[in-house]
Amino acid sequence: MLLLDGRLTRGTGGAFETINPATEEVLGTAADATAADMDAAIGAARRAFDETSWATDLAFRVRCLRQLREGLRRRGDELRELTIQEVGAPRFLTFGAQLDAPVEDIGWFADLAESYAWEQDLGRAEPMGMPTRRRVVREATGVVGAITPWNFPHQINLAKVGPALAAGNTVVLKPAPDTPWCAAVLGEVIAEETDIPPGVVNVITSSDHALGAQLASDPRVDLVSFTGSTATGRAVMAAGAATLKRVFLELGGKSAFIVLDDADLKAACGYAAFSSVAHAGQGCALTTRILVPRDRYDEAAGIIAGTLRGLGAGDPQDAGTMCGPVISARQRDRIEGYLALAKEEGGSFAAGGGRPEGRDRGFWIEPTLITGLTNDSRVAREEIFGPVLALLPHDGDDDAVRIANDSPYGLSGAVHGGDLERARGIAARLRTGTVSVNSGVWYGADVPFGGYKQSGIGREMGTAGFEEYLETKAIAEGL
Ligand code: NAD
Repeated sequence: MLLLDGRLTRGTGGAFETINPATEEVLGTAADATAADMDAAIGAARRAFDETSWATDLAFRVRCLRQLREGLRRRGDELRELTIQEVGAPRFLTFGAQLDAPVEDIGWFADLAESYAWEQDLGRAEPMGMPTRRRVVREATGVVGAITPWNFPHQINLAKVGPALAAGNTVVLKPAPDTPWCAAVLGEVIAEETDIPPGVVNVITSSDHALGAQLASDPRVDLVSFTGSTATGRAVMAAGAATLKRVFLELGGKSAFIVLDDADLKAACGYAAFSSVAHAGQGCALTTRILVPRDRYDEAAGIIAGTLRGLGAGDPQDAGTMCGPVISARQRDRIEGYLALAKEEGGSFAAGGGRPEGRDRGFWIEPTLITGLTNDSRVAREEIFGPVLALLPHDGDDDAVRIANDSPYGLSGAVHGGDLERARGIAARLRTGTVSVNSGVWYGADVPFGGYKQSGIGREMGTAGFEEYLETKAIAEGL
């Protein structure tokens, strides 16, 4: 069902199927909204912002956010099964970033809104001889259009809806067509288990990407918060330009994992392999270029290939699975296109390179390691968004930093080394929004996440991710 102006409705466009990517089984249908439904949702969000006290009643908003967290917690078991089936997410990831962590993060945003310094007193001054008291206040931006992808649907939906609401905005959420149920349940919980007023959140599922473009260009929308591919991010930015909308973009990546020559090669390469094919490599920040010292290249290839073969591609229902299916036939075909390209470019597969044996139904790619290519190859430069890693040699620290930064993207990175100070020095030189040093985990409600260069504009999560949804107003009072 859609959540439209406080009502759960099927909308005006019929329904479309949602598919289990592990089995190709049709799970059921979701409401297929039309442009008219989207238009109504934007109108409802506009009215809720302009005509209610939502934006100014902080205590009420905080209470509603805590109700939302409680409602999602109550439906946790059901949501876990739904996420495994609809997203193909390995079960163990649902105990973290695929479900439980983002549900708890809502509480962090509620706490932040409660303790936030909404007003700052700049004190008295006499600009141009006029005695004046100056204050700076932060307030909601207005109507937020939230457009999200399918790979971590709860995390990305809630990392937008949570801070946008905490800041006092109203929201129209348009999730990806591949994962409508994850968003539809959010709409249900908001309608049934919270006091969030009609129109404050609207959830518009649709098989039609054009509804995203509609949301990005509508003049009644003040800010578009988008997560998805860099190509679509460009379209969103262009669509917002006509009305000078604020755009906040979380885009693609091709992050590097640097193994220094003083690192424990086995531990570093094992971790690089394991962490980079989580959720079948469908994570924007995964480190899919692994940079190792040239004289240990073959040894590193053996460790990584062995780890990937050991992991395999498994049933996402199983507690031990790290790498499940990819989301759709379209994504599988796209990844297979890159595997063919790797061959054409002169690369070899040290592990994987195709579909796993015995998986006749569903959309599957084996965890794959490509060797023998340089950072100039397309498979090392372009985002594949599958369980496919490129192993690249480096000739020391400066060369490793040069290769890591030689990318149109700048989302994330990792470095492993025996000397912490040296590894920190490398982290400081990476042109990326997050860096993991010696397996450190940067994910957290309080940690800003986002990209340099063509990986995005702005930050999600953390205080910075809350402030993306605020305007700044200076008030000067004559004395
Ligand atoms: P996508 O760009 O195809 O779609 C994302 C969303 O945009 C979907 O809801 C889609 O319907 C909508 N959309 C499509 N065309 C649109 C248009 N012209 N205007 C407005 N909206 C439009 O991305 P995807 O395939 O769903 O997701 C995979 C991509 O997302 C990868 O590139 C990945 O790196 C990126 N991603 C980035 C982050 C991050 O935080 N940086 C997180 C997750 C995924």
